[in-house]
Amino acid sequence: MNLRSHIVKTYKTQFRKKKMKNDSVSLIINNIATSFGIKKADIWKRQFQDLEKWLQKRNFSVILEKGGEDIVSWETDTITIDSNPQWESRYYALLHECGHIIVNETIEFLEYNYPSCTNETDGRKTKTDAYKISVVGEEIEAWKLGRNLGDHTLEHFIDHNKFDKMMTECIMSYLYWATEEEDDTDGT
Ligand SMILES: [Zn+2]
Repeated sequence: MNLRSHIVKTYKTQFRKKKMKNDSVSLIINNIATSFGIKKADIWKRQFQDLEKWLQKRNFSVILEKGGEDIVSWETDTITIDSNPQWESRYYALLHECGHIIVNETIEFLEYNYPSCTNETDGRKTKTDAYKISVVGEEIEAWKLGRNLGDHTLEHFIDHNKFDKMMTECIMSYLYWATEEEDDTDGT
């Protein structure tokens, strides 16, 4: 069944033309689900699977893990995604991790624009502001590139409000990490 092309034809064109605001995405998803007699979650799951195919071409595989951290493992060429959230959130989380893959493929861009290397392992260097800014920078780049992959390359549905919310929470946690005071009391 070629559901995706149907969806793109019937809804995405209108969606693009009218530049509907984010609130409409959940309405459109509702309509599609009703029209095709499928669950809303299936639409997000299909988009998730599209990302898995995109990753397969890069020899990466995805592991869904209950309570797992959303992260790329460069040693094992795998991406772990927490399976606790629903498919829509899993999809956005995977988009972001795909963003990290793209960052890595175009690492010269990151190195050119940021003061330090983000795969630094030297403990002294990872305490520097330059390193922290570069890590925060990579996070933002990965969200940008992930959104672009889903929105423009794969022409997926994205609820930008939800995506922005996840991005904000994620980047804020990095900002807290970057600005927290060093604890020197353990004498190391
Ligand atoms: Zn990240």
